Amino acid sequence: MEQQVPLIDPFARPITYLRVSVTDRCDFRCTYCMAEHMQFLPKRDLLSLEELDRLSSAFIGLGVRKLRITGGEPLVRRDIMSFLRSVSRHLGDGLDELTLTTNGSQLGRFADELADIGVRRVNVSLDTLDPGKFAEITRWGRLPQVFDGIAAAKAAGLRIKINAVALKGFNEDELFSLTEWCANEGHDLTFIEVMPMGELGSEDRLDQYWPLSDLRARLSERLTLIDLAERTGGPARYVRVNETGQKIGFITPLTHNFCESCNRVRVTCTGELFMCLGQEDRADLRAPLRASDDDALLIGAICSAISRKPKGHDFDYSRQKVAGQVSRHMSHTGG
Ligand code: SAM
Ligand code: SF4
Repeated sequence: MEQQVPLIDPFARPITYLRVSVTDRCDFRCTYCMAEHMQFLPKRDLLSLEELDRLSSAFIGLGVRKLRITGGEPLVRRDIMSFLRSVSRHLGDGLDELTLTTNGSQLGRFADELADIGVRRVNVSLDTLDPGKFAEITRWGRLPQVFDGIAAAKAAGLRIKINAVALKGFNEDELFSLTEWCANEGHDLTFIEVMPMGELGSEDRLDQYWPLSDLRARLSERLTLIDLAERTGGPARYVRVNETGQKIGFITPLTHNFCESCNRVRVTCTGELFMCLGQEDRADLRAPLRASDDDALLIGAICSAISRKPKGHDFDYSRQKVAGQVSRHMSHTGG
């Protein structure tokens, strides 16, 4: 594909990683992510699959090498496979990796096709192995369906990374069982600190917050954790567990911020480009997409937005109150 001048932000960080949210809808209602009764966007506000393709292709032309599809739940978007299949044409021709973040509920249906189009890895969000607790935290989710989805993905040859949000008083007691299950199944595992995104109704962020510094200290009481130098340009830091050989990641936006090496931006399902997950500044890409069939306006809007990518987010719980909160839900920006 024709390469334009690559995207470099004001802090000399090359932007090579794009996350695209393809829907704000979801078949779950995780308590830390959504309110139970969500007002979803009208369909006409969403980018069409063709627009998502044009937009992703423009970013790839500008040097994006890794594309992660997310949501909402990406696999509940109608005809999502036709978009994924289409965008997979860039694999090996500008794009190194096409992947997705999913709650796993639809993997049973789609795993084979995902493998067929060249997806090699998926991130599956799973915070507990207990069916009752799973129903409680996801409100609408059912664990056996997710287990079936994960099994289908594994059988299709996809590598699986489990993402678990660390939730105080909720999955603290499953730290070792989750870790052991991932080791036995051959899945990577990443823990995530809960971030202050969106109003949730009755849920209180500080009540949910379990610092990963504490989680990690507890893990190392029983396991030997060896720091890995591996960086993906994201906020995760990795260790190898000596006893099992498995890899564990820690995403610590609150206790440690690793924004200095950030290489990523996010586009919402309505075509808003967020240069930082934790800041409000955004650029509208839907208008330039819809204004002309030619990509010149779109590319101009992308480049101008990248030229104001901020240094980092301002999330902070350290004064026993939530600071740096952003008003939109994670399902809107795409985690
Ligand atoms: N539905 C898909 C899923 O659950 O994997 C993709 C979208 S979801 C918004 C992406 C990730 O964001 C999930 O791993 C979820 O656990 C995480 N997430 C949602 N709300 C969060 C929050 N407030 N803080 C930290 N992570 C959050
Ligand atoms: Fe849906 Fe994912 Fe948010 Fe859970 S975390 S409500 S699965 S978008």
